[in-house]
Formats: sequence, C-alpha cells, structure tokens
Amino acid sequence: MPKPLKPPKPVLLADTEAELSCQIEALLADPAHQSNPLREPLAHLLACNQVHQAQLRRLIRISDGYQTLSRRHHETLENQYERQLHRLEKLARISDRYQNSLRELSETLKQASLQDSLTGLGNRRFLMDRLAQETERANRKQAPFTLGILDVDWFKTINDRFGHEAGDTALCAIAQAITRALREYDVCGRWGGEEFLILLPETSIEFALRIAQRVCDEIKATRFDFMEERITASLGLSVYRPGERFSDTLKRADEALLRAKANGRDRMEA
Ligand code: GH3
Ligand code: MG
Ligand code: MG
Repeated sequence: MPKPLKPPKPVLLADTEAELSCQIEALLADPAHQSNPLREPLAHLLACNQVHQAQLRRLIRISDGYQTLSRRHHETLENQYERQLHRLEKLARISDRYQNSLRELSETLKQASLQDSLTGLGNRRFLMDRLAQETERANRKQAPFTLGILDVDWFKTINDRFGHEAGDTALCAIAQAITRALREYDVCGRWGGEEFLILLPETSIEFALRIAQRVCDEIKATRFDFMEERITASLGLSVYRPGERFSDTLKRADEALLRAKANGRDRMEA
C-alpha cells in the first residue's frame, strides 16, 4: 500500500510546491507504485502543475518588470517636477531681485533729479515742489511762511583768486553752515549758482529775521584753508500773503535781496 501523502507544511508556497513535486516524482518513480491506477492521472496532474508553475513564474516576472518600469517612470516624473520647481523658484528669486534693484534705481534717480550734486541740498526743482506744497498748506491753515533768498557776496572774486575748485569747496561749506543754522523743519536748497533759497514754514517775519541772522553769522564764522578773509552773504526776506502765487513772494524776496546788495551787502532786508 502506498503511504498516504502528508499535508504540506505551512512554509512559503513556492517551497511547498517544489517539495510536493519532488515527493510526487519520487512516488511515480518508485517501482512499488508502477501498477497503481492513480499513477497515470497523478503524472498528468504533475505535468499540468509544472506547466502552470512555469506560466505563473513568467507572469510574476512580467508583473515585476511592469512595476519596476512604472516606479522608474514615476521617479523620473517626480525628478522632472522637482527640477522644474527648483528652476521656477530660482526664476522668482531673480525676478524679485531685479524688481528690487529697479525700485532702488528709480528711487535713486528720483532723489538725484531733486538734488544738487555739488552741495547735496535740494535743487531748484525740489524747491519749486516744496514751494507749491507750502503755498497750499499756508492757505489751508492760514499760517503764512517766510521766504529768504541768500546770495553769497563777491563770490566771483573767490573763484578768480583761488580757483573754481576752491569756489566749489566754499559753496559746500556755506550749504552746511546754512543747514546748521536752520531748524529741523525749515527747508533749504540751492536756487542756482551762489544763491540759496530758505523756506521757513509757519514763521512770522520777526522770527524769520532772527533765524536769518543766525544763518549769516554761521556763514561768517566758517573758516577756509585757502583764505584769511571771511565770506559774507546778503539775504532778502518776504512773507507769503494768503491767496497770492508763490512767484509773487519770490519776486518780493528778490527785490529785498537787491536792496541788501545795494545797501552794502553782508546784511538782510525784508
Ligand atoms: P555779488 O556780491 O554782487 O553777488 O557778487 P558776486 O561775485 O557773488 O556775483 P556774480 O553774479 O558777479 O558772480 C557769481 C559767481 O558765482 C560767478 C560764478 O562763476 C560763480 N559760481 C556760480 N556757480 C558756481 C559753482 O557751482 N561753482 C563755483 N566755483 N562758482 C560758481
Ligand atoms: Mg548771484
Ligand atoms: Mg553773489
């Protein structure tokens, strides 16, 4: 009697089947079972099973291949996406930097267009803007401002005696002296050549005369390496009259300046 087959041990399926096949092959080869009527169908079953096993292995290989392919494809897409993202972030950073430098450049250009390159004070354009603003404010608040036009005395002789460069140095020192003498909210700019405009917001003529005196004293106190003499200035002052154009105020300040010059310079007139 052939021994009954033991049930397969619970091991890996492939191992169990291989073991089972070996056992069946051994049984089939055993001469003791040659006449067993189950031998023929069992041999056939074993052959079928081996074919199925081979087909299954092939299917598994194909499926593994697909999975590897799909993983690689997925990784490639992910890498491409990462690279694109990286590139986009870099582009965004470059664009930000570019926009910032454009903004800075435009701010610098705006500053430069309103600044006198020699003295660093506001230029005539800057002063015209401030005059328009102050005129509007003076009318709105009923608080007139006082204007002063300052002209350096005998400035041409400084250039003639010590050269244009010395003249430039003197103009810068004068600009600093004026700034020192003014209050923080007063405005001063280069009106042109050796002329400076002073704008004293919400300031009466009495107070403006005191500030103007301080300006003239500060200029006179400034010393220069290249000359012994002191530099003096003449000033024409005028108060804004509500409702008028600031050009009218400027005209009166100019006339007052001419009087200061005519009356001997180194003085102010209102
Ligand atoms: P006054 O007392 O009548 O004002 O005499 P002044 O010599 O100051 O006046 P004038 O108008 O005859 O001469 C002004 C001089 O200022 C002439 C010009 O060469 C000089 N000047 C104007 N701008 C500059 C500048 O940026 N640098 C230098 N170095 N000189 C300048
Ligand atoms: Mg002048
Ligand atoms: Mg002058």
